Amino acid sequence: MIFTKIGVVGAGVMGCGVTQNLIQTGHQVVLVDNDPHALIRASQLIHDGLRHHMMFDSTLKTQSIEALLAQVDMTTDMEKLCDVDFVVENVTERWDIKAYLYPQLDSICPAGCVIAANTSAMSITRIAGTTLRPDKIVGMHFMNPVPRKCIVEIVKAHHTSEETLEEARRFIEQMGKQAVTVNDYAGFVSNRLSHLFMNEAVWVVQDGVAGAQDVDAIFTQEYGHEMGPLQTADLIGLDTVLDTLNVLYDSYGDPKFRAAPLLKRMVDAGLLGRKSGEGFYQY
Ligand code: NAD
Repeated sequence: MIFTKIGVVGAGVMGCGVTQNLIQTGHQVVLVDNDPHALIRASQLIHDGLRHHMMFDSTLKTQSIEALLAQVDMTTDMEKLCDVDFVVENVTERWDIKAYLYPQLDSICPAGCVIAANTSAMSITRIAGTTLRPDKIVGMHFMNPVPRKCIVEIVKAHHTSEETLEEARRFIEQMGKQAVTVNDYAGFVSNRLSHLFMNEAVWVVQDGVAGAQDVDAIFTQEYGHEMGPLQTADLIGLDTVLDTLNVLYDSYGDPKFRAAPLLKRMVDAGLLGRKSGEGFYQY
């Protein structure tokens, strides 16, 4: 099956990245968010992302940005997901929000449709348990920024069928990316590792060992990473990093995932990183 019309739920950082990538690879998208302001911001973000991408990708140059954006139907009306071929869910990393959403998606989306959860750390098995189609629920952990990252973790939950896994891999291929299939333990591979080093970097700053720039410089120049842990946290969104650490802490009951108080204070102060204009750096 070729996936043509894709439902993307949640129009924040990840929903916008997934939508932009889907447009670039020729898909029709129904982008749903329950916050109309989020859709206005999304429209601008996707527009800017496409314009930036077109500077490097000659295959898109024959089309106008307006024509590319016309591939997306931005809406607050979830019922528009009734005839999509595949769904990628990207709503806020909070259990109450996901648990409320999935039964709705289950009743609206076509019976055979796979619903992929783009969560940083939540149990896909638990999410699947809120629906009547647990075999059709799969984890799909995209990396940020989505259009620039070529690898995606596909997470096999307890009930995910082989057919669903195969469809998920084909979908990722259609997006021009490579899938790595992993098992369902909180944080999967990437976030179980990355949230330890991002959180420890915040503790280092909080303890006054070094400032953010020096922490990141040591990390990038010493270990050859493209970005330092605090630049990465700002890019992800400090609220999402905190939510994810809380999920990891609850899931494993292990103090190594205890969020640094400085991270909590910054989130309380509205310093969320790039998306709010200030985090460990100014934007
Ligand atoms: P975000 O806060 O930027 O956006 C979340 C969006 O979900 C908001 O626009 C919000 O209005 C919307 N939303 C909330 N409840 C909704 C509902 N019931 N129906 C429709 N929309 C709803 O968050 P994000 O960073 O895009 O993260 C989204 C998901 O992707 C989270 O589960 C997160 O853990 C995961 N994730 C994030 C990153 C990252 O780098 N930010 C990377 C990989 C995965």
